[in-house]
Amino acid sequence: MFKLYNTLRRRIEQFEPINSPHVGLYTCGPTVYDYTHIGHLRKYVGDDLLKRILIANGFDVKHVQNITDVGHLTSDADEGDDKLDKRAKEKGMSVWEVAKFFEQYHFKSLDQVNVLRPNIVCRATEHIGEQIKLIEKLVKKGFTYQTKEAVYFDTSKFPDYGKLSGQKLEEKVVGVRKEVVVDPNKKNPADFVLWFFTVGHFQDHTMRWPSPWGEGFPGWHIECSAMSMEYLGDSFDIHTGGIDHIPVHHPNEIAQSEAATGKTFVKYWVHHNFLIVEGGKMSKSKGSFYRIDDILEKGFDPLALRYLFLTAHYRDKLNFTWQSLEASQNALNNLREEVREWDNPKIGCAEFEQKFIESVNNDLSIPQAVAVMWDMVTSDYPTSAKARSILEMDKVLGLKLDEFVSKPLEIPQEAQRLVKQREQAREKQDFKKSDDLRKEIKKLGFEVEDTPSGPRIVVN
Ligand code: AMP
Ligand code: ZN
Repeated sequence: MFKLYNTLRRRIEQFEPINSPHVGLYTCGPTVYDYTHIGHLRKYVGDDLLKRILIANGFDVKHVQNITDVGHLTSDADEGDDKLDKRAKEKGMSVWEVAKFFEQYHFKSLDQVNVLRPNIVCRATEHIGEQIKLIEKLVKKGFTYQTKEAVYFDTSKFPDYGKLSGQKLEEKVVGVRKEVVVDPNKKNPADFVLWFFTVGHFQDHTMRWPSPWGEGFPGWHIECSAMSMEYLGDSFDIHTGGIDHIPVHHPNEIAQSEAATGKTFVKYWVHHNFLIVEGGKMSKSKGSFYRIDDILEKGFDPLALRYLFLTAHYRDKLNFTWQSLEASQNALNNLREEVREWDNPKIGCAEFEQKFIESVNNDLSIPQAVAVMWDMVTSDYPTSAKARSILEMDKVLGLKLDEFVSKPLEIPQEAQRLVKQREQAREKQDFKKSDDLRKEIKKLGFEVEDTPSGPRIVVN
């Protein structure tokens, strides 16, 4: 039985979908004005693990993810500019090209860490009509007010506003996005924009569309409500995001969706904790804003990063260090080498598979599940049984072990000859020759590791 921590009720609950075996899953996607970084990757790998576990439990998952390609003011936009407009000017590209560029980078990064693609990817700019329709419903039901600058959601009309964050409306001043442009006619600090007008500060905003209230562009929150309900219905099963979405973005989504439909928007809310780097917040000025290219440049396998993500529970912070990535790379290399030598998959180890599924079903206890996997690897079960079971486990872990299980390393004779010559050179203490030979071996795609029991050849 699958159990999941539900932020809405602050407890672990048994997962029961609204319309089993179908599961509607919505994951908040990226704002595409900058590169996807390894913090984002942790969040998306977390979503991916959740999805794979649901599939392993026999559920039929429909996964929807948005792309925020409308420029908005963001919480760290001290400059008071629309980041997309700003980026476009910097790069000499149109805002549309910038959004496409970073969207492609996002999915390319996700592919590298073996995140399954969503069933539906929906862009905010391609769903302006749906967003306007939803705002129209809210206007009709009296949940909005209009100023010269924007149409707002009136949070005082929605008494349940704090049910996700646990914050009372009066306390809500804290956590509201830093507002660069202060509208003197906004009533409560928690009220949020449904539709911006392209006037005043925003008169030059590139992306703009006509609406019943005037030309402008949608607020940030409305796209997630409009698109999730478009593809998954008014009420659906799971909605995820980073913990930064608990105080503002997700309460806003709940308020506007439930005010419009009168129904419960989402049954289970899942929030991922953050990745920090070398003990601190990822930061461009400190040079700790790493992306997948930085990982590859240093010679790591992107799946070593995925392995590192598996070592922490999704509700705990994870501290990234190059040392911890190195340890993950070593663990992954050892695992790959071990499984290569196993006999062809047959039967399986029911005992370990059972323990594994119990762990992942217990609110995604992945570190525990990985420990179960290693217990199995070092157990006395026949290797054919272990091979079968590890392939089952890897359907959840996503380490692409199928490329290694029962596939012994075939070392070409040429490489073997060079390794022997290198050993002889080392015995004669001719380290220059030994180094040159190592380079030759590397060219053939192999690496020699010197171990106490002699040289060991691994794939480069
Ligand atoms: P953004 O594109 O910056 O709005 O972020 C997209 C998603 O990634 C959001 O759900 C954020 O909560 C999440 N996120 C951003 N930074 C990190 C981080 N350092 N660690 C984990 N998740 C993050
Ligand atoms: Zn969202």
